[in-house]
Amino acid sequence: MNLRPSELAVAFTERFGDKPAGIWSAPGRVNLIGEHTDYNDGFVLPFAINHSTLVAARPRSDRTVRVCSTFAPDDVVLADLDALVPGSVEGWAAYPLGVLWAMERAGYFSPGLDLLIDSSVPVGAGLSSSAALECAVAVAANDLSAASLSRTELVTIGQVAENEMVGAPTGIMDQSASLLGEEGHAVFLDCRSRESRLVPLDLKGVGLELLVMDTRVSHSHSTGGYAARRRSCELGAELLGVPALRDLSVRDLAEAAGLLDEETFRRVRHIVTENARVQDAVDVLSGKGPVALGQLLNTSHASMRDDFEISCAELDTAVDTAVSAGALGARMTGGGFGGAAIALVRSGDSAAVADAVTRAFADAGFTAPMIFPVLPASGAGRVA
Ligand code: ADP
Ligand code: MG
Repeated sequence: MNLRPSELAVAFTERFGDKPAGIWSAPGRVNLIGEHTDYNDGFVLPFAINHSTLVAARPRSDRTVRVCSTFAPDDVVLADLDALVPGSVEGWAAYPLGVLWAMERAGYFSPGLDLLIDSSVPVGAGLSSSAALECAVAVAANDLSAASLSRTELVTIGQVAENEMVGAPTGIMDQSASLLGEEGHAVFLDCRSRESRLVPLDLKGVGLELLVMDTRVSHSHSTGGYAARRRSCELGAELLGVPALRDLSVRDLAEAAGLLDEETFRRVRHIVTENARVQDAVDVLSGKGPVALGQLLNTSHASMRDDFEISCAELDTAVDTAVSAGALGARMTGGGFGGAAIALVRSGDSAAVADAVTRAFADAGFTAPMIFPVLPASGAGRVA
């Protein structure tokens, strides 16, 4: 709903009869470049965005959790912290309760809590509303329990919650961006070592912004396409004798071509070249600056469209139209088969680019896209 912290505090008091002890916030994220590289032990370059999830929280003297979200206002979920186990919670409450469960399993006691959640991160648009929710609850519970977990430990708590309580086989990218992001920076993350470092991404300072173009085509990680790509990558690594595709470089591709069937080779080529593009993007950002990113975004999209085959007509239309209308570069982002594309645009051109994409969707008979700008924002923390 996009409530301000003071408005959420009022709503909390109405709902639970007493003021919250504090309000915490965690952002969604956009992945600038590095798609499907995470589960190949590779590199990604996401950034925290200026859309976030807020949680108002108050500790209780018992072991009960009451959690409510403006996303489903009539649904107050009650849980006993001592009875939480994977499979015991269904629906959206598995994310916040999963975080508390994961903290306790890691040996950190959480008090009972009253929680009220509100978010300005659109759900299912590829901006990771799920990690925003997990990380907001994680920083709140961390502060209220005095567990003093580090940011990287909280990344793992969020991942465990999502993997085991929600049952989604996701990596650490989303939580890392939400917890480690800084305003004007992207998070360069090595998914093997879990090491990360901030890279300057001051879009505003150079008159740029990033448009998110949500195609409204629903994507789901449970659909066969995602699992099939993971299998192709595992097969490629096995046939080429490496622990993960991360261990190959662009120079190895010529030899790989002779050892793999044509389709598996193209899957491998996407991952290997995409990993190189993430590293090139980091170099570009540390040197020439964000204006020079455009070409890398365009080649990333072509690789996902032609080699990895995870794009769709709506994503291609968004990307092609944005570039024709003046974007410096564009690519689909997220798992693919729908979801969102991003376009790097000069601030003065963003309305024209958005209009052109909206018109192209209408002409093609597609559902109207949802288009909005995002900027690199700071990571999770207490806001009131
Ligand atoms: P996304 O790409 O947005 O992360 P996911 O399917 O991974 O998509 O996560 C979306 C799910 O997260 C929602 O279906 C819901 O269960 C939960 N969720 C996200 N935001 C909220 C919120 N504000 N309140 C309650 N649940 C939420
Ligand atoms: Mg998610």
